[in-house]
Amino acid sequence: MGHGHDHSNHKIKDHNHSHHHSSASKNLAWAFVLNLFFSIFELLGGIYSNSIAIISDAFHDFGDAFSLAFVWYLQKVSTKPIDRHFDYGYKRFSILGALIISVLLSVGSVFMIIESVKRFLSPAESKADVMFLLAIVGVVVNGIAMFRLQHGSSFSEKAVFLHFLEDILGWIAVLFGSILMYFWEVPWIDPLLSLGIAIWILYNAYGNTKQVMRIFLQAVPVTLDRKDLIVQWEQIKGVKSVHDIKIWSLDGNQHVASLHVLIDKKLKPNRYQSIKEQIRNIAIKFAIVHTTIEIETDEEICNLQLP
Ligand SMILES: [Zn+2]
Ligand SMILES: [Zn+2]
Ligand SMILES: [Zn+2]
Repeated sequence: MGHGHDHSNHKIKDHNHSHHHSSASKNLAWAFVLNLFFSIFELLGGIYSNSIAIISDAFHDFGDAFSLAFVWYLQKVSTKPIDRHFDYGYKRFSILGALIISVLLSVGSVFMIIESVKRFLSPAESKADVMFLLAIVGVVVNGIAMFRLQHGSSFSEKAVFLHFLEDILGWIAVLFGSILMYFWEVPWIDPLLSLGIAIWILYNAYGNTKQVMRIFLQAVPVTLDRKDLIVQWEQIKGVKSVHDIKIWSLDGNQHVASLHVLIDKKLKPNRYQSIKEQIRNIAIKFAIVHTTIEIETDEEICNLQLP
């Protein structure tokens, strides 16, 4: 009975998203294919021009392509309804994908850093003219992709847009690096660029891993103002205080909470339902989609109540 609000909330959300859903899915699929073919082309170009910077970026783009595929697939899985195997539904599958990709990228970037340092110590000649041409292609291809995604409204489209932007910046660095290497004897520029790319990947992967691990470890969501939530709960008429509050996140966007509510013993039990409803309505404002409430009066002793 008490969950009526949760469901109506879901329906409103699903409705708003449905208009963009098919185009978002199409754009992501398109971005995946583009990224995959481009990274194969890039890897071959990197080997041919003997540029570790371009090989590193090819690796980065492989990572991007598989992230896209994962995001796309797990997004689908995560919308599966609750069944007897998963009482909380499949939302967490989307963060599982993010964790796997971050770990893979971290391991890969450590190898890239080792390779770059080796190159620093014994520099090798790279074909600067080929690097220059590859960089032009890189800027153009990523520019087209960015242009196509710039009107995307979904969260994943925006993330992908940022990725393409970041890729363009990388290519612009390669472009200038190749010009320097063409005119001057500066072979160390190539491993320097590669080192920069590897550190950038590692930095992002670390940030993502940290966020995802917080969710897996059931931390209180960082975006949620716990104090404000409690204040609002305790302002409900008839509520004396709340305790044993547990808030955690399913996938970073949708949260779950449970709490004990101490209410006036003079209050008639037929008022309980209205109080629970108010508690749930406040929780929904904080993106808490599932709230479990235990009601207590000051006549009973609760071991979980802090002094
Ligand atoms: Zn990227
Ligand atoms: Zn790239
Ligand atoms: Zn209690």
